[in-house]
Amino acid sequence: MTDCIFCKIIEGKIPSIKVFENEKIIAFLDISPVNPGHVLVMPKKHFKNIFDVPEDLLCETVKISKKIASSLIKAKLAQGINIGINNELAAGQLVMHLHVHVMPRLENDGFKHWQGKAYPKDQAEKIADEIRKAL
Ligand code: AMP
Ligand code: ZN
Repeated sequence: MTDCIFCKIIEGKIPSIKVFENEKIIAFLDISPVNPGHVLVMPKKHFKNIFDVPEDLLCETVKISKKIASSLIKAKLAQGINIGINNELAAGQLVMHLHVHVMPRLENDGFKHWQGKAYPKDQAEKIADEIRKAL
């Protein structure tokens, strides 16, 4: 896709620091890591996010993400790992090319868990019902 920064990286038009590449998947260092070793894993073919990527390619991307996560632990760059995909602007997706964040975490690195909010009375069952109906 012409205006996609990750497609440009994949085509070699913009530099990146690659850690893995095969026929379908590429993984390179995030330019602004939460901790050193933060890796982005993605299909080479352009898909916006989980809503339009084919399931087998998503599985392949997750498989490689697991491999990268294990390598971060093995290399002692992480004591724990957060794995995340931001989907759509509302969820913080800034680059509209599907990518998995593999984020090294260290004890006391200062990152906080997201702030949860308790359900108001009787809301949880209603919400669960809405989800079940939409499946
Ligand atoms: P997201 O909010 O999930 O779309 O995250 C986009 C990520 O891409 C951010 O963590 C950025 O730091 C990262 N990023 C943006 N441009 C580059 C680049 N040229 N090379 C590596 N990572 C990048
Ligand atoms: Zn792209």
